[in-house]
Amino acid sequence: MLPEVKANYGELRNLVNGEWVEPSGGGRLDVENPATAGVIARVPLSGADDVGAAVAAAKAAFPAWRDTPPVLRARRLFTLKALMEERFEEFARVIVQEHGKTIEDARGETRRAIENVEVAAGIPTLMQGYGLENIASGIDAEAVRQPLGVFAVIGPFNFPLMVPNWFIPYAIATGNTVVVKPSEQTPLSLTRMAELALEAGIPPGVLNVAHGAKDAVNALLEHPDVRGVSFVGSSPVARHVYAKASAEGKRVQCGGGAKNFLVAMPDAQMDAAVDNMMGSIFGAAGQRCLAGSVVVAVGSAYEGVRDRLTEGARNLKLGYGLDESVGMGPVISQASLDRVLGYVDKGVEEGARLIVDRRSARREEELAGYFAGPCVFDGAEPDMAIARKEIFGPVAAIMRADSLDEAIDLIEDLPFGNAASIFTSGGGAAREFKRRVTAGNIGVNVGVAAPMAFFPFGGMKDSFFGAVHAQGREVVDFFTDRKVVISRWS
Ligand code: NAD
Repeated sequence: MLPEVKANYGELRNLVNGEWVEPSGGGRLDVENPATAGVIARVPLSGADDVGAAVAAAKAAFPAWRDTPPVLRARRLFTLKALMEERFEEFARVIVQEHGKTIEDARGETRRAIENVEVAAGIPTLMQGYGLENIASGIDAEAVRQPLGVFAVIGPFNFPLMVPNWFIPYAIATGNTVVVKPSEQTPLSLTRMAELALEAGIPPGVLNVAHGAKDAVNALLEHPDVRGVSFVGSSPVARHVYAKASAEGKRVQCGGGAKNFLVAMPDAQMDAAVDNMMGSIFGAAGQRCLAGSVVVAVGSAYEGVRDRLTEGARNLKLGYGLDESVGMGPVISQASLDRVLGYVDKGVEEGARLIVDRRSARREEELAGYFAGPCVFDGAEPDMAIARKEIFGPVAAIMRADSLDEAIDLIEDLPFGNAASIFTSGGGAAREFKRRVTAGNIGVNVGVAAPMAFFPFGGMKDSFFGAVHAQGREVVDFFTDRKVVISRWS
């Protein structure tokens, strides 16, 4: 039987040193279910004092946690993983409520979050250093990795459980302590996970939650006891966080926004390719950082792509994601809906042809929430807003290119570099594409090239600021310092 979801999660609190506390500053915001526009919780807006309390708890918990053997820290993560598996379906349903994505998508997100806990539980191996005996006569050298202290993790709304888990399990496994600031729009699933972390025996103060919005973020960036910051969100905010945290002397990694192109070659297996593109463009209502947004059809691929995409977008069933038959949910808020529809209007103004127009879906299909129906443009040009800006909604633009070179040039001309995919039956074209395209995640006949937990996740150009990406072995570097010890014993 499916777990019951609550109609209302009430007034959320911060988690400080293992206690759920009422923040003192800032007031509260409504958390809405975007599929119904109903209020499902209220999230506190922490001020600098509230953030300070969470950082102080993390700082106090650090010495004992750092000294806990890695194998014992890993065991706490194994327990957390088991608890999350037990609540798997509950997590997925809460994510649907707070975000609006379909239940199948939310299950995928939950799985990806748990996978990061699994990988981080391998920390006794992942965190090992190296050494060399006799670097000179009678002298040995070893390099060890050590945790640094308190890390801040700041998440976006669109993967409320998965994205913070690109960082939290690794930060904790390596012996650091954490203050996480979930998105104020989708704070529920991570709050639930923090409850389970306590239940799993992760000691009070090791994982703290400071709810809030930009004031809470800035308080974390300014706090002298925060040693590093892992951020994911839009590019302007990522740039701000990167600049400010760096200026404060912290180590920092910031994922930013995206504009992902999908290239269809004439030799692509068109039915499978467009099926894949549909998932990439309209999955999570276009609100994934790896979502396809522009389809570049090379040569004779054009008509095949356009006709299939048109049919697919017309037939997508909209609704509340807890209904298993729904193909696409709403966007996150009224502000997002206004932004997405604004871009569609702009595309029409700039002269692209709107060949699928479901802008009125909300009214026509009597949907209460923030539904932007799928829209498809034909005849988009490279300098149009719909072809350059991150829309973050269910809008596709189809462009023509005469050759693979031209398609790659279009991608290289973009400010973003999060993801790009090619659909082809030819190894030569695929090889050119993956070598030349400047993007952190490349798909070959894969529309959403999402690295699993044991591979690095991060973009290039304005889609990422920093040097070390999220997840796996790579992020262990971010959460550890390397110390070299040279010893002589006579
Ligand atoms: P956002 O930038 O609005 O917010 C992200 C976080 O920053 C939130 O926790 C928010 O409270 C905080 N914030 C917002 N404005 C701030 C400000 N002025 N100063 C300080 N903090 C601020 O992003 P969002 O709308 O929550 O998420 C969607 C964006 O995230 C999209 O651009 C998407 O592409 C991007 N994203 C990127 C990746 C990636 O891997 N690169 C992954 C997921 C999402």
